[in-house]
Amino acid sequence: MDDHDTLNRFEFEHLPIRGEIVKLEASLREISSRHEYPPVVQNLLGELMVATSLLSATIKFEESLIIQLQGDGPVSMVVVECTRQFALRGLAHWSGDITQKKLPELIGEGRLVITVDPGSKTNRYQGIAQLEGDSIAEVIENYLARSEQLRTHLWIAVNNLTAAGMLLQKIPDENDIEFEDEIDDTWERVEILGTTIKNDELLELPVKKILRRLFHQDDIRLYEPEPVSFRCSCSRDRVREVLRALGHKEVSSILSERETVGVNCEFCNLHYEFDRVDAEQIFTSDFPPDVPATRH
Ligand SMILES: [Zn+2]
Repeated sequence: MDDHDTLNRFEFEHLPIRGEIVKLEASLREISSRHEYPPVVQNLLGELMVATSLLSATIKFEESLIIQLQGDGPVSMVVVECTRQFALRGLAHWSGDITQKKLPELIGEGRLVITVDPGSKTNRYQGIAQLEGDSIAEVIENYLARSEQLRTHLWIAVNNLTAAGMLLQKIPDENDIEFEDEIDDTWERVEILGTTIKNDELLELPVKKILRRLFHQDDIRLYEPEPVSFRCSCSRDRVREVLRALGHKEVSSILSERETVGVNCEFCNLHYEFDRVDAEQIFTSDFPPDVPATRH
């Protein structure tokens, strides 16, 4: 069965542990083809795509989850956004020849910013933490360990064609206190089994086979796979909002020097052009109906 570009949730029938396996292929290709990324940067983006989709499935939100790493290293920024429908978009900024391989050398001194967009301007949650860890998976685990009680372990593997990941998480249980030692032992056993997964198994084996290979002693309930895809949320309307925020004076000043004002979406490379008539309409209250964007 082809389970690429899917997120697969599973639960241990008799244990307070849940998990997910995500496999990315076309979505990875789409995102990494938008810019000419050096292989190391592309892999980093792939890792973050996996981490963001895994995490999106564990938290409740209406709009999107955004995970961003920023620092003073050769890769100054890498960001991935995942919506509730598992639509992913992402990009990275880098400079020079990238010879470094490890995450701390690539990003340098930096921080992790996790934003939960609830779909309204209020209640937007943002968590900021120092970057700690040798990989995206470790950085996220360290962040979770500090910010919440749920024990979570992530495994992420990428090659230039596919990216895959697995997450295991201890589910809070009201019996937790009474049976704490027992549950800790159980979690430890499952976590150790998880750690035996090899990168190529995670990348190449079908989800069912991975679960059988790791947890054949346990009863696992595997849910229907959910599709994951690349999709950018940019639109001509959103670009209008950006120009409107820039202000009438600024936009007019650009248009006094050239025919049109153009805005590029960095996530998907779509190009939006506005001429004088379009621009004037932005600053009147009624927007004309949306027209398809042109691609350059
Ligand atoms: Zn876009």
